Amino acid sequence: MPKEAQITCRFCKKKIDKSTAFKVGERTYYCDQECYDKQKKKSTHKPQKVTKSGKPNDRRRLTDYIMKLFLENGYEKSQIKWELQTAQLKNIMNEHKDWTNSQIQYVLKYMYEILGLDLFRNESNGSVLSLVPFYFNEASEFCIKSREIKKEVENFNFDDETVIIEKRNINNRSSKEIDISEL
Ligand SMILES: [Zn+2]
Repeated sequence: MPKEAQITCRFCKKKIDKSTAFKVGERTYYCDQECYDKQKKKSTHKPQKVTKSGKPNDRRRLTDYIMKLFLENGYEKSQIKWELQTAQLKNIMNEHKDWTNSQIQYVLKYMYEILGLDLFRNESNGSVLSLVPFYFNEASEFCIKSREIKKEVENFNFDDETVIIEKRNINNRSSKEIDISEL
């Protein structure tokens, strides 16, 4: 009797018989529906780094940033409740249809890096996204201001005494400026 062809489950990496495997598409196999569902769940918060067209994937950059926040605040990767994060992200974007992944990332950066807020206090209910809707406008204003300051600084004539003083102030204000060119 010929030996049955074996393949590897995409999710749990177990060797399984090809004939009884749960097949998705042309050549993707899973043990069963359960492994397939688990893989799907896993990949919903792990988008590719680049989109099909080769552009950086904004959703991935946002989830990477969320992960960075957790890791920098003493959490392990396994402690991040991605179901909660993605559900909340979905809610926010349903309520504010014009908000993009990049903008939400900017608001998080603004709260964390500029304001120095503790995004992990009890009121956030385990999600760093809880405060995003409350700081969106403030962050947008900061973003616009930062752009203007950047432009002003570029246009300064550094020979002028008064301008140099002004420039110093502006430098203080924008010393923690985050990279807005990413938006
Ligand atoms: Zn499996």
